Amino acid sequence: MTVVTRFAPSPTGFLHIGGARTALFNYLYAKHMGGKFLLRIEDTDRQRSTQEAVDAISAGLKWLGLDWDGEAVSQFSRAARHAEVAQELLDKGKAYKCYCTPEELTEMREAAKAAGQPMRYNGLWRDRDPSEAPAGVDPVVRIKAEHSGETVIEDLIQGKVTVSNAEIDDFVILRGDGTPTYMLAVVVDDHDMGVTHVVRGDDHLTNTFRQMQIYDAMGWERPIFAHMPLLHGADGKKLSKRHGALGVEAYRDMGLLPEAVNNYLLRLGWGHGDAEIISREQAIEWFDVVDVGKAPARFDADKLASLNAHYMREAENNRLFELIWPGVVQLLDGKVAENAAERILTGMTDLKARAKNTIELTESASFYARTHPIPLNDKAIALLNDEGREVLQRMRDILAAFDDWHSGPLQDQAKAYAEGAELKLGKVAQPLRAALTGSNVSPGVFEVMEILGKDETLGRIDDALGSTA
Ligand code: GLU
Repeated sequence: MTVVTRFAPSPTGFLHIGGARTALFNYLYAKHMGGKFLLRIEDTDRQRSTQEAVDAISAGLKWLGLDWDGEAVSQFSRAARHAEVAQELLDKGKAYKCYCTPEELTEMREAAKAAGQPMRYNGLWRDRDPSEAPAGVDPVVRIKAEHSGETVIEDLIQGKVTVSNAEIDDFVILRGDGTPTYMLAVVVDDHDMGVTHVVRGDDHLTNTFRQMQIYDAMGWERPIFAHMPLLHGADGKKLSKRHGALGVEAYRDMGLLPEAVNNYLLRLGWGHGDAEIISREQAIEWFDVVDVGKAPARFDADKLASLNAHYMREAENNRLFELIWPGVVQLLDGKVAENAAERILTGMTDLKARAKNTIELTESASFYARTHPIPLNDKAIALLNDEGREVLQRMRDILAAFDDWHSGPLQDQAKAYAEGAELKLGKVAQPLRAALTGSNVSPGVFEVMEILGKDETLGRIDDALGSTA
């Protein structure tokens, strides 16, 4: 059997981080089994579905590298097929038309409420002769649910879950206007798309028992189910916008790398020994949906940030450069030095080791891109006090007369001066750093000097000597 999984988002908003995790688990399981991962857009709710949301979901999945097989399927476009199945169920006597009035339904709802029960359709039209149908009412179609016995699901994550069929009412599968309900559409689509494994949030578990009724009524083979626990916020409550549950693009805009987000999501509710850093290849090799835990996983922003810092160090310099360059140009209002790009690329290994995300990297790389005079932050200004300026002046004279412009020899010059002046090297390096980078933190200052070149280095030092009080 070829495993076929699917991700079936409703396009009513961005790709939520919990949805991204569902997509990832479906993707990994399909790949692990050498199967297929499909995408179905559940856009039957025309009021709430938007093209922007479809685009945001596709973009989010692509950004995470969760490429789906074949074309995405629009559920709405399959409405005729859903209606056809409803008709087939009517023809088989497995469904029936219900002409209940809104008042009758309200009555049922109130009776259920009074009895402290959830709303259940009372079967009013289940065995009633259609000749009794009132004129001018568009009936809904209801499934003739099996009320005796029980429905058992051998869920790959939840284990064996049993529900008494007495609890399942004759739910609507086709509305009065001929449009399918979610319950019908999802079953027909999963069947027609050949989905073998439905991996989704455990908020759908109760739907699954109802959906079974449709599979059985049609005589279709049931897929295997795996209901994953939902994500919770740090307070242990279901993750929501209140917790800052954001769309995937918001994580990108926060400067996170997709591999960090993937690795983070993967470890929420699933693990492989002590492994924390898990590549896509390893994940495909190791991931099995049966190993997903039953307990809800908690979202931990700090862990995500620290994983991201790891992946920043691992990322290719060129790639990081491409990611931050537009932001650098924007930060400097387009006023970038002629060789700004080359400087940043050359300094990238050191820059990326110090940045937790691409936003920090954009900021920390920007000093390379500036033309001088560069702005100095408060800490840099503080370093350029009388003592600092004295050191800077002496170093300026030494450097002006020195031409072997490489970080090693430059450092030797600074060391020699520091020794002669009985200063610690830091006392010499810090004012230089302040003048050259505008900050008290930066990559190694001698590397900075090498990358900036002699003219730019002396220019920035002169600016600092001239401009600070
Ligand atoms: N469209 C449903 C949702 O977004 C998912 C349906 C499913 O996975 O079966 O919650």
